[in-house]
Amino acid sequence: MTTSRGLTLALTALLTATPAFAAGQRGAPPTQPVAAVQPVTVALTATETATLLFMREEERVARDVYLQAAELWADAPPFAGIARSEQQHMDAIAQLMTRYALTEPSDPTVNGVFADATLQQLYDSLMLKVEVSLVEALKVGALIEEVDIDDLEKALAATENADLIRTYENLLRGSRNHLRAFVAEIERQGGDAYLAQHLTQEAVDAIVSEPMERGGPGMGGAGTGAGGAEKGGAGAGGRGAGGGRQSQVDVPSSSRLAAVMLARGGKGGGQGGGTGTGTGTGTGTRGGTGTGTGTRSGTGGAQHV
Ligand code: ZN
Ligand code: ZN
Repeated sequence: MTTSRGLTLALTALLTATPAFAAGQRGAPPTQPVAAVQPVTVALTATETATLLFMREEERVARDVYLQAAELWADAPPFAGIARSEQQHMDAIAQLMTRYALTEPSDPTVNGVFADATLQQLYDSLMLKVEVSLVEALKVGALIEEVDIDDLEKALAATENADLIRTYENLLRGSRNHLRAFVAEIERQGGDAYLAQHLTQEAVDAIVSEPMERGGPGMGGAGTGAGGAEKGGAGAGGRGAGGGRQSQVDVPSSSRLAAVMLARGGKGGGQGGGTGTGTGTGTGTRGGTGTGTGTRSGTGGAQHV
């Protein structure tokens, strides 16, 4: 369809942004204090910067469309959960924007208004389709994910920056899961077999035929033992970092609250005496692994629905 092709073209244009600016930026002094985890922060090129800011808005297109769809089609389970996941994708990009001292391309609190004209056009056209029917809304979701996957793969191919690669790979994993969720729901709603809208049918079929992917977010391994055992085992069950769809959707609220408490409390979190029983396992790309009942919490699982 024209909007998605326009999107790809827009990204291509961004990828060929002026080398003069890139050279200037590379030579600029570091504007960011050195982070403890990341002793060396290499400045992004102009291309990497433009792509990252574009992806920040593209993730928000997804979030804002899904929020609207969740209101219109309240009985359709995927939308609200996936909208939350898109917020986490936006947050992951925002972390990089902070690290590299980049400013917001647009106000993320103003839903449906974007700096990039192509994304604005895409959003506007998709919002019209979302209203038509539940199946149309689900197809809009699948289209967004196909476009997102395509753009993330292009972004990955155009960088060697480890921060960007890690984040894009995590987002890609989430997007593939979102596509699986939308396609499953489309077919469950009695529609015909899903037809690819932006990627090739082969690419979509290959993704959809694989099970939901778990784990892998960059925040994997966040938090070390909360000390619950020493305090008599009162520690809350943590959601392991990198938990996938099930652990995120089905975590009991008491456990989630306890996990948040632990996360905020840092090492002293165990003293809070949570009662959650959630368990989670996950492996982060930073090498962290989290498993846990009554031991610790990870925050990374939220990156994937
Ligand atoms: Zn996303
Ligand atoms: Zn998505």
